[in-house]
Amino acid sequence: MQVSVYSARPYDRVYLGRANHGARHRFIYLEGRLDEASAAAAAGSQAVCVFVNDHLDARVLTRLADAGVRLIVLRCAGFNNVDLEAAAALGLAVGRVPEYSPHSVAEHTVALILALNRKIHRAHARVREGNFALEGLLGFDLHGRTVGVIGTGTIGACFARIMAGFGCHLLAYDPKPNPACLALGARYVELSELLAGSDIISLHCPLNPRTHHLIDASALAGMKPGAMLINTSRGAVVDTRAVIAALKTGALGSLGIDVYEEEADLFFHDLSDEVIHDDVFARLLTFPNVVITGHQAFFTEDALAEIARITVANLDAYEERGAPLHAVSTERLVSP
Ligand code: NAD
Repeated sequence: MQVSVYSARPYDRVYLGRANHGARHRFIYLEGRLDEASAAAAAGSQAVCVFVNDHLDARVLTRLADAGVRLIVLRCAGFNNVDLEAAAALGLAVGRVPEYSPHSVAEHTVALILALNRKIHRAHARVREGNFALEGLLGFDLHGRTVGVIGTGTIGACFARIMAGFGCHLLAYDPKPNPACLALGARYVELSELLAGSDIISLHCPLNPRTHHLIDASALAGMKPGAMLINTSRGAVVDTRAVIAALKTGALGSLGIDVYEEEADLFFHDLSDEVIHDDVFARLLTFPNVVITGHQAFFTEDALAEIARITVANLDAYEERGAPLHAVSTERLVSP
């Protein structure tokens, strides 16, 4: 089948190429994002392959359907960027990669925690300048601290296991408690109790209408003073402006993010020669107690190989049986 691959980076070519045994599918790589203007470029393809910041609203989906596309395959787990009802109405099938390497994201989450706690970003810069003073680099032992995990699915559970290994106490919040987390000793509590009792709060829930700005001014006000907040889920789970206000007062002790509400115009591109026009993001960059990575938590060799393998399996299944192996349906909209 011919597949237009949007937001394609060099590594996508490498890993999709390797997974495409016998060159069964013909990949057309497009560097740009999928939007209303670029949808027409999919003409001649039966499928489009998209990533986290490709925006598939009803208008874009209509253009794709008009261009002859029948299938959308996401190279990611989250599907908040697809209007599933519109896709169903247009007869477009949607597939995703529900699980590739939860370790990739969980381990990156821990990297953000360790960097923030032990001020690795500042220490690295200092040492390169010949400054070996320790003032300002004071951290705390993770052992014995309380970590709050919001969303204890595949990634949240993997993260909880690592933190249990550090000797942390675990609080959890999820409408569907995970037996694996209970077995680790995690205590499921109301969100307010988790916020009030955690030294570190890490977000691993999907973005949906219920989780949009889950961490807002009132949630921040309910946190332990000086707590650390980590977001590797989706940017809009956090109200960035409210977080900036809490960082300014010191109510929030530190922030580590791999995702950002308005990341689509920033992340995955080299903008080092350009002016950043997003003043909210620019403000975040000024804090010494904020570490930001550009949506790279998934970015390991193992994860890319698995994403490509499952993406090709979705395409194979659609060709053979008329449905992707891991279909996303509108039923998921009503799940938590
Ligand atoms: P998952 O579906 O296995 O787990 C999500 C969990 O969140 C489920 O247990 C669900 O019950 C829970 N949940 C749903 N609504 C909730 C709510 N209102 N409050 C608390 N918990 C809620 O998903 P996963 O594979 O663990 O991935 C989690 C998220 O991580 C994805 O949705 C995606 O947005 C994000 N992600 C980010 C990256 C990255 O590179 N930064 C990579 C992969 C996934």
